[in-house]
Amino acid sequence: MSTLRFQALKETLNRTSILVAETERRSLLFGKNVFNQATMLQYLTKDAFDSVVDAIENGSKIDRRIADQIASSMKDWALSKGVTHYTHWFQPLTGATAEKHDAFFETIGNDRAMEKFGGDQLVQQEPDASSFPHGGIRNTFEARGYTAWDPTSPAFIYGTTLCIPTVFVAYTGEALDYKTPLLRALQAVDSAATAVAKYFDKNVKKVNASLGWEQEYFLIDRALVNSRPDLLMTGRTLLGHSSAKGQQLDDHYFGSIPNRALSFMRDLENECMLLGIPVKTRHNEVAPNQFELAPIYEETNLAVDHNSLLMDVMEKVAMRHNLKVLLHEKPFAGVNGSGKHNNWSLSTNTNVNLLSPGKTPMSNLQFLTFFINTIRAINEYEELMRAGVASASNDHRLGANEAPPAIMSVFIGQQLTAVLKELEGVTDGKLSPQEKTDLKLNVVGKIPEILLDNTDRNRTSPFAFTGNKFEFRAVGSKANCANPMTILNTIVAKQLKEFKKEVDELIDTKNLKKDEAVFNVLREYIKKSRNILFEGNGYGLEWEKESKKRGLSNNKTTPEALKAKVSKKTLDLFDEMGVMNKIEAEARYEIEIEEYVMRIQIEGRVLGDIARNHVIPTAIKYQNMLIQNVSGLKELYGKDFEKYAKEQMEIIEEISLHIGKINTKVNKMATERKKANKLEDLEKKASDYCMKVKPLFDEIRYSCDELELLVDDELWPLTKYRELLFTK
Ligand code: ADP
Ligand code: MG
Repeated sequence: MSTLRFQALKETLNRTSILVAETERRSLLFGKNVFNQATMLQYLTKDAFDSVVDAIENGSKIDRRIADQIASSMKDWALSKGVTHYTHWFQPLTGATAEKHDAFFETIGNDRAMEKFGGDQLVQQEPDASSFPHGGIRNTFEARGYTAWDPTSPAFIYGTTLCIPTVFVAYTGEALDYKTPLLRALQAVDSAATAVAKYFDKNVKKVNASLGWEQEYFLIDRALVNSRPDLLMTGRTLLGHSSAKGQQLDDHYFGSIPNRALSFMRDLENECMLLGIPVKTRHNEVAPNQFELAPIYEETNLAVDHNSLLMDVMEKVAMRHNLKVLLHEKPFAGVNGSGKHNNWSLSTNTNVNLLSPGKTPMSNLQFLTFFINTIRAINEYEELMRAGVASASNDHRLGANEAPPAIMSVFIGQQLTAVLKELEGVTDGKLSPQEKTDLKLNVVGKIPEILLDNTDRNRTSPFAFTGNKFEFRAVGSKANCANPMTILNTIVAKQLKEFKKEVDELIDTKNLKKDEAVFNVLREYIKKSRNILFEGNGYGLEWEKESKKRGLSNNKTTPEALKAKVSKKTLDLFDEMGVMNKIEAEARYEIEIEEYVMRIQIEGRVLGDIARNHVIPTAIKYQNMLIQNVSGLKELYGKDFEKYAKEQMEIIEEISLHIGKINTKVNKMATERKKANKLEDLEKKASDYCMKVKPLFDEIRYSCDELELLVDDELWPLTKYRELLFTK
């Protein structure tokens, strides 16, 4: 066996699981390292406390003098916990989180020192973060980028650093991060949804969007990952023959969690508790060595921060266990990839989930209003929703032979489908007293009972209603949830705004009662949104044909899908809802296209290297052994040798054929890359990388994987699928 592979496998044998002792109840650990409201109560004056709460709840500005007080208290709290540094923590458009640590430590004169942290440092910083992607914003305007405190997400301690969640914006105000547009979208959905919720309850003052993400991931021994240059450099295996056993027995899914994985999870959950990330669920997923973790849902901005933080913490905790977390959407061919379901709902300050049916007909009409408006929003902006989950890595799921498809549709279940059908028949204009009673008793009034036994679930749907929330399943496992959540909340905000306008108009001009007007508008929405509703098998070829007839988009690749992000319709939407101006939206598009090109470019280079430097030389070595064997047989048997050397000679030939193919395709790939690199037009470049470079990956891989099956296992340098997927 090659030295590298041998060493890697040997290392895994010495692994023992370190079981993390849980010394304290989790409820007591929860939020211990967070400057949350409970901690603030202890550390802040009443003025300062009220001011932060007002900022969180109403978005009010925090006075500079108060900011000084808060900073000083934060510092005292942090120092009491052994913290030495602070950082503005933000989410640039790389998808990762960013931090630049500064010590509290300051010198006074020559020989004295103290710890200092003031309002200025808390509120705003100017990190020289000029290397983050900005899509031209920082060239055309000012080079400066600022981070500014986001008081709606509490500061937390990680390691020995106080982390302050911030937005990252250009000097001219353009967003340079994920958080800024998300906050604006949440604001938009709050005001639009509050206005509509007031039809049903005058006391509603605020509507929060909630998010509960479910994070899927692979957990692989670190030494094994390190022995695979492709996993190390691209997050996925670019080659490797599938192992004889994969996931076909379904013996991993929901099975008993392996010891090493469990100790990792306990350690991770422990860290999450301290950081106030309310993780609750853990289980084995479908593919071998694949797992899932889910928290209790939270307000969306906080949930997004927590998911970004989690992805970082996972990596660090895994290190302690000699494991590596793979967040890539498709690390291994032939077994399931990973996603991150985004469970979404809207709830009021009066604690009502607007997507949950209530006890009275009126509250059910409210439910139907938000339910149908969401469906209509997806119908209108299905292509943008698809664009919101597009990435080079997620292309391996969406539109490939994997769940869910690239076609957006909404699943609502048989019973709610029947309810919508009834509502479609509502009379145009004024309703008769009899019709009103009927609707109340037999349609709207029956909803809670219906949902109780609504157990049908459709796993193939990208956007499914699951009782009291919608579940957006197309989000990729390594994505920052802010991107799809910004889109979803913006389109729902826009839709609710239109709805309010239409209902008010009917009340004013046609003299309809409020509930009559609501029924009338909803009826039209149902008729107009029929195309997006689909209850069948989302993976089937039939749906592909049917959806085409319905005029739904089916953008299978990222370069195609992303275009919807800069269509006139999208630019107008973001602009109208105050989420992004044209410059911001176009900059993001450019960044995403560019990232796509770079990812495929890197994969191409890595694959070329491995094919040439690992696979071909190994195949030649083995071929030489066979040749030696054949010459030996010839010496031994003279002209009769062919009787004994026939198979060997066939393998020799087969090896040569594959080597030839690999060499030709790797050359062709390099030529295509060079041609694409010369293109000035970014869209054309991305399209060529997608259509001309990427397809060669499969062809090169095919020959490499065939060689893996032919060549002596002792010689093969790359850790194999069975070792990666089944070493626990
Ligand atoms: P599943 O069967 O899809 O695993 P769960 O009930 O386990 O569904 O919930 C999955 C995720 O959905 C969890 O993160 C949970 O907190 C979240 N969730 C539950 N209710 C809501 C809601 N009303 N709004 C948003 N997320 C929710
Ligand atoms: Mg789910």
